[in-house]
Amino acid sequence: MDYKEEDYLQLSGIQHFLFCRRQWALIHLEQQWVENVHTIDGMLMHERAHDPDAAVRRGDLLSVRALKVHSAKLGLSGECDVVEFHRTLDGIELAKREGLWLPYPVEYKKGKPKQGSEDAAQLCAQAMCLEEMLCCDIAEGALFYGENRRREVVAFTSSLRELVRDTVREMHTLFERGYTPKVKPTKACNACSLKELCVPKLLKQQSVSGYLRKEMEGEAE
Ligand code: SF4
Repeated sequence: MDYKEEDYLQLSGIQHFLFCRRQWALIHLEQQWVENVHTIDGMLMHERAHDPDAAVRRGDLLSVRALKVHSAKLGLSGECDVVEFHRTLDGIELAKREGLWLPYPVEYKKGKPKQGSEDAAQLCAQAMCLEEMLCCDIAEGALFYGENRRREVVAFTSSLRELVRDTVREMHTLFERGYTPKVKPTKACNACSLKELCVPKLLKQQSVSGYLRKEMEGEAE
């Protein structure tokens, strides 16, 4: 089933959703956003990648910045930081360009590579949008990390594609229900830009003090 355009969700929400479902809901359902040093760094890096002087050609490589993408199958829309088009025999035709070109999405991230698969899933979703829009197959793309200034190649395997489909399906379900999951503090909270808003520590303290109060009440009985 294809989604209607008005039901498309933001593609970038995949990384939030896989990091923490509550963070995704606060940002995408409740529209809350707290800027901290992490998000500002990330935005500056994205602004550099999103310089609208857009298409640059160097030989058999054409780079396009801030390319808007969407998928009716996934019900997503968003923007790719950079899509490189590599000139190759098994590529696709592009308007006003000679030869055949294969798209290769590149996503810029602040910091260093993460343990989780959220960045790879976001990139894979971009590739799946490009495949649907351009009728082609994209085998891989790359994540560029600001901290070590290195590119990591990401293969768009069937299991990564399945993760994207499952995640997006769940995002649509929560969005339709308008449901914000409850706080479950984890190590990820330390790096979360919404922690002041979400107050996991406070809730933790409440539960500890509640626990102590209960213990004391138990002793008094
Ligand atoms: S502070 Fe923790 S629980 Fe709250 S949104 Fe962030 S990661 Fe999720």
